[in-house]
Amino acid sequence: MKFPKRRKKKRPGQEGHLNTCAWCRREIPEDAEVFGVSGKFRPGVNMKDQEGKVVPLVFGGEGRVVPAIITPADSPAKRDGKDLMFMLCSEKCCNELAEGVRRDMRSLFEAEKM
Ligand SMILES: [Zn+2]
Repeated sequence: MKFPKRRKKKRPGQEGHLNTCAWCRREIPEDAEVFGVSGKFRPGVNMKDQEGKVVPLVFGGEGRVVPAIITPADSPAKRDGKDLMFMLCSEKCCNELAEGVRRDMRSLFEAEKM
């Protein structure tokens, strides 16, 4: 069986993986609604070197790798108290991610649905 070739439109200045759901890795179509979860670091957590980068976080049990966007110091999100963000495809993924954070990442940061 042959699959049609998928043409990937690349938006300039955007990494491909930012169009993928952080939790289930499904591709988020360009015209689809994007859901987000933001996180706030616990006191003492310092990820200054990673600001503006996408950092893979490994969640406990399942060893699931979830890409987090570390917000740059001068961004509106950061001023809003959001230290990191996740892009997600659905409400369900938001809930599962938030649940995973509570379970595996509580010492690093707390998550909040955006
Ligand atoms: Zn998803």
